[in-house]
Amino acid sequence: MRRCIVVIEPGQDPASLVILARTVADFVTVLVVCGEGEHPRVASDADRLVAVAAAGLEVSEVAAAALAGVVRSDGARLVVLASSARLREVVAPLSASLDAASVSDVIALSDVGGVLHADRLLYGGVAVATLALQREVVVLTAPAGRASEVGEPAELVDVELAAPPAKERLARAIVERDVKLPTAERLVSFGRGLKSRDDMQLIEGLAASLGAEIGCSRPIVEDMRWLSVDHQVGLTGTTVTPNLYVAVGISGQIQHLVGMRDSKVIVAINTNPAAPIFSVADLGVVGDLYEVVPRLTSALAARGG
Ligand SMILES: Cc1cc2nc3c(=O)[nH]c(=O)nc-3n(C[C@H](O)[C@H](O)[C@H](O)COP(=O)(O)OP(=O)(O)OC[C@H]3O[C@@H](n4cnc5c(N)ncnc54)[C@H](O)[C@@H]3O)c2cc1C
Repeated sequence: MRRCIVVIEPGQDPASLVILARTVADFVTVLVVCGEGEHPRVASDADRLVAVAAAGLEVSEVAAAALAGVVRSDGARLVVLASSARLREVVAPLSASLDAASVSDVIALSDVGGVLHADRLLYGGVAVATLALQREVVVLTAPAGRASEVGEPAELVDVELAAPPAKERLARAIVERDVKLPTAERLVSFGRGLKSRDDMQLIEGLAASLGAEIGCSRPIVEDMRWLSVDHQVGLTGTTVTPNLYVAVGISGQIQHLVGMRDSKVIVAINTNPAAPIFSVADLGVVGDLYEVVPRLTSALAARGG
C-alpha cells in the first residue's frame, strides 16, 4: 500500500492535491502546517486530517524537520506540498532529510510497474516532461486552490522541533508571512507597465480601497526587485484563485496566466488592446494605468469600497 501526505497551509484547499495523490496512493493524509495555537478546520475527503501547530514552523528548516518526523512515523512514500512560496522553501530541506527525489509543479502522477511517474510543465508551460522517480520516497509540489468551505477540525499531532535557526532567518520569515497571496479574496497585481518604484503607491491605493492584497509579475521580483517572491503570481510564483483579480500593466504571458486564470472575476488594465491578459479578462480597460488607476481608486473611495 502506498501512503501519501498532502501538506497545505491554513486557507488552502487540499481537494485537487488529494485527487492527484489518489491516482497513485491508497491512503491519503492531509496535514496543515499552522502557527502556535491555531486549530484549523478543513473540508477534505482525505482518509485522515491532521495539523501541526507550533511557533517556529514558519521557518523552512524547522518545518522540514517536523514534517520529516511525521512522514517517517506515517510510513508515507509520497509527500505532496501545495505550491505556495512558503511550502516550496520546505521542499529542499525535507527532500534532503528523507533522502527523497523531488519534483516541482507536478500536474499528473502514474504508477508504472511500481515506479512513480510524474508529469510536470517544462519551458514555462509549453511542454510536458514525464519523470520516472526511482527513489523510495518522493517529495513534490503541485498547485492548490483557496479553501471556500469550512470543514472538520484537524486532529493536532505532536512534532519534534529542531533548534531555532539564526535570528535573521527567523525575522525574515516572520516579516514575509504577512503576505497572504494563496488565501486572498481580492488581489491587485501589477507588472512592468509601472514605470517606477514610487508609482507603487498607485497600486497600494487601489488595493487599500478594495481591501486587497498586492501581487505582481515575475519581472517586478527578479528584475526590479521591488517586491519579494511571496508577491509573485504565476508558474514560478504562487497560484491564486481570488474572487477578484485586478491585473494592472501586466501583458499576460502564459507563465503568469497559469497562476491566476482560475480567479473568479478578472479585471485587466492595459494600453495594448492585443495584450494576452484580455483573453482571460471578464472586464478589460484599454487605457493608461496612470489615468485609469487614480480614477478607479477615487470612484471606489467615493462609494466606500
Ligand atoms: C520558466 C519561466 C517561468 C516564469 N514564471 C513566471 C511567473 O511565475 N510569473 C510571471 O508573472 N512571469 C513568469 N515568467 C515571465 C513571463 O514569461 C513574462 O516575462 C512576465 O510575466 C511579463 O511580465 P509583465 O507582464 O509585467 O511584463 P511585460 O510582458 O513587459 O508587460 C508589460 C505590460 O504593461 C503594459 N503597459 C505598459 N505601459 C502601460 C501603462 N502606462 N498602462 C497600462 N499598461 C501598460 C504593456 O502593454 C504590457 O502589456 C516566467 C518565464 C519563464 C521562462
